[in-house]
Amino acid sequence: ARVTRFGPSPTGFIHIGGLYVSLISERTAHQSGGLFYLRIEDTDRKREVPGAVELILGALNDFGIAFDEGPSLAGTETGAYGPYRQSERQELYQSVVRELLVRGHAYACFATPEELEAMRTEQNLRKIPPGYYGSWAIWRNRSLADVQAALAEGRSFVIRLKAPAAEGNGRVELPDLIRGKLNVPANNQDIVLLKADGLPTYHLAHVVDDHLMGTTDVIRGDEWLSSYPVHAQLFDLLGWQRPRYAHIAPIEKNVGSSRRKLSKRHDPEAAVEWYSVEGYPRQAVIEYLLNLADGKFEDWRKANPTADSESFPLQVERLNRSGALFDLVKLSSISREVIGAMTAAQVYDAALAWAQVHDQPFAERLAAHADYVRAILSIERGAARARKDIVKWSDVPSDTAYFFDDLFVPRDEANQALWDALAPGLAAILREVAEGFDPTIDRDAWLEWVRGIGEKHGYAANGKAYKAEPERYQGQFSAIAGVLRLALAGKPNTPDLFEVMTVMGPERVRARLSAAAA
Ligand code: GLU
Repeated sequence: ARVTRFGPSPTGFIHIGGLYVSLISERTAHQSGGLFYLRIEDTDRKREVPGAVELILGALNDFGIAFDEGPSLAGTETGAYGPYRQSERQELYQSVVRELLVRGHAYACFATPEELEAMRTEQNLRKIPPGYYGSWAIWRNRSLADVQAALAEGRSFVIRLKAPAAEGNGRVELPDLIRGKLNVPANNQDIVLLKADGLPTYHLAHVVDDHLMGTTDVIRGDEWLSSYPVHAQLFDLLGWQRPRYAHIAPIEKNVGSSRRKLSKRHDPEAAVEWYSVEGYPRQAVIEYLLNLADGKFEDWRKANPTADSESFPLQVERLNRSGALFDLVKLSSISREVIGAMTAAQVYDAALAWAQVHDQPFAERLAAHADYVRAILSIERGAARARKDIVKWSDVPSDTAYFFDDLFVPRDEANQALWDALAPGLAAILREVAEGFDPTIDRDAWLEWVRGIGEKHGYAANGKAYKAEPERYQGQFSAIAGVLRLALAGKPNTPDLFEVMTVMGPERVRARLSAAAA
């Protein structure tokens, strides 16, 4: 059984990459019969934002990523390895640091910001690797008297690691579940363990927490790959068994001819919040992320169309070393499948839940016209055929608008042009269809009836798409269907025309068609 964790920092922003890594961690733990926990990494006070923890808990809950241990909204915690907020674990970090000090693996450093700045400038000028190491580490071997004097002056200090001298050629081999055996330079930097405010750096907190909290598999973003040597060193110096590591490549995006990470600043889809606002079903987002993580997911889904995605055997070892490519088209097609597998009543409920948070006026409309909207959402779903037009809940308001008289827009500019190309000469047909519409006959009978009207007026019964070349298909049956759609919906694309008319009801159909024919 594996123990994994998610360690977000409460910055108020949840990156889709964070959700991705937490999903992989959660599945890895639970599929092994193990445990997944949440730890709030709030040791960087400058970046902390009020309400951020609630945001993290809300997002995990929204996307169904369940943790076994961690903080809760009520401020209480579940689990025996807490506290689960790093800011409440100071004593633990400090006692580990004391241990390192006593054993000569750490020391106090009183270097001033000016001294560190001068060091960086000089290293930069001489084109040598930057950092606090070797002879640059001016507090590394200071006498006790120097330290006591600095303390007596009340100078602020940090605690640094005394990086062990690298052996051999100065390289180490470190295993990674995804990348195999890494051969990388050993750490020679006397990195900061405890900051001047007494709070730990990420490096120290990671090692202390993941050890004390029993993590067996550290699954994290590959931006931490370069810190892996120092983390391994710390585990070794403390005499603790190292966990397994898996460094996950980021989700990337093609920009022009290059590829880069989804960026918080430039890409709206980098924010987890975007998926909720747009209204992608949570299941679609999760399946999309599983698809990014493991190329086998798609085949598995095809073979198991109704299985819960939780039973997909995700293997962290199978992840790609290079970044997965974000693809909105893929997300849309997965989302369409997910929505297509729902019943109209479920789609109604989900759209209502979405609207209650993101579109209050639409929520009120949905609530006031529940049966009508359920009927609209049932169009083409009768024969277990999914509607192809709903990709996300925010599509529902625009997709259903024309069914409501107060929202119906007869024709925008583009559709007016299409209308002008198709409609002349069809007024008589529209009028006949309006008057004789009988919603009690079935679809085929209705189609025959409309064809008959068309033929009477000299229109061929040809069902070809007219949209690409309206001029060419003018005078054919598809033109009649197109004009009916334009008259009823204000646009040439709608779900099944007969069903649209049936749901609208004869009165509304008559009113729209006669208005258009006038
Ligand atoms: N707090 C770290 C971050 O936000 C967690 C990294 C880890 O999982 O160890 O990136």
